[in-house]
Amino acid sequence: MSDIAALPYVRAIAPYQAGKPIDELAREYGLDPKSIVKLASNENPRGMPESARRAIAETMADLGRYPDSNGFALKSALSAKFNVPVDWITLGNGSNDILELAAAAVLSPGRSCVYAQHSFAVYALATQARGARAIVVPAKNLGHDVDAMASAISADTALVYIANPNNPTGTHLPAQTLAGFLARVAPQVVVVIDEAYNEYLPPERRFDSVQWVRKYPNLLISRTFSKAYGLAGLRVGYGLAQPALTDLLNRVRQPFNVNAVAQAAALAALKDRAFLEQSYQLNVAGMQQIIDGFRRLQLDSVPSYGNFVLVKVGDAAGVYHQLLRRGVIVRPVANYDLPEWLRITIGLRDENERFLQALAESLEVVAA
Ligand SMILES: *Cc1c(COP(=O)(O)O)cnc(C)c1O
Repeated sequence: MSDIAALPYVRAIAPYQAGKPIDELAREYGLDPKSIVKLASNENPRGMPESARRAIAETMADLGRYPDSNGFALKSALSAKFNVPVDWITLGNGSNDILELAAAAVLSPGRSCVYAQHSFAVYALATQARGARAIVVPAKNLGHDVDAMASAISADTALVYIANPNNPTGTHLPAQTLAGFLARVAPQVVVVIDEAYNEYLPPERRFDSVQWVRKYPNLLISRTFSKAYGLAGLRVGYGLAQPALTDLLNRVRQPFNVNAVAQAAALAALKDRAFLEQSYQLNVAGMQQIIDGFRRLQLDSVPSYGNFVLVKVGDAAGVYHQLLRRGVIVRPVANYDLPEWLRITIGLRDENERFLQALAESLEVVAA
């Protein structure tokens, strides 16, 4: 251990485990990067929209200047889309930033944060980084048990995170369930509903969560351009909350947290309804393709409302490594208390096929 006067709760943090980068696997196994299929980080397999590419090219001319600290153009477009004033909107360096800003605004040692078992890893990280106490509520059927979560809120609780749909399980809470939960939470407790996969919900599962932002001053909705909008590498997300909470987030926000290229690309992607619709349809077809494959292999999977799916393979570490040898990167989820499962991002048709073929071979090798 070094002599650095580290905060004990910072030293205790287990760093985030990202999906393995393509170049890293290529280096380690001597593979051609172009032959590698990465289905590990819930990125849009179509890449970024052409509209965003054009917007980026235009922005390149003027990168000598700081970006707009208030993100006027992007916030204006979001304001019109959600029919909320611009002072209800916070932009983030990815929605990860929004999740962190909520923690920075309300968590400290002596306070606690409630979130669910098997829910997004960043909730634990944001809580630990502030020295706050984590109250991890056991999942029910791999999803959030909101009744138990409401009961778990204690006198020192300042924050609750809910992922809807949840990553890595893909479970989704319907509107009535969430409405009942929100009504039970005391007004001083900030609730973050993380909707990173909202754009992948089928029509019958969609509902207007912004109506609750109008009703509850303690509610923050978080969304991202990283998943369905195809801009993960640029890092743009946003939060929707009433002005008093938005103002708090702004006090802890870095003034230039979203760069100029990212702002321009997000604005273009937001307007590109065709790209979003095509991405949605591709995901529906790819999800069916992968689930059909699991059925043929007699594997259990969890019905998912995102662009990824959990599958139970038994020796997940073994299968993961066999897949790597075959140039396919997926996501192990042992760090989510799911040691027998793998999380697969839905890819392009050919990528899904490559994965299923490699999975069949890997299962045979591991079983032998
Ligand atoms: C991917 C993801 C995010 C954050 O993604 P950003 O790229 O930071 O916007 C947030 N929440 C969940 C549940 C996610 O899976």
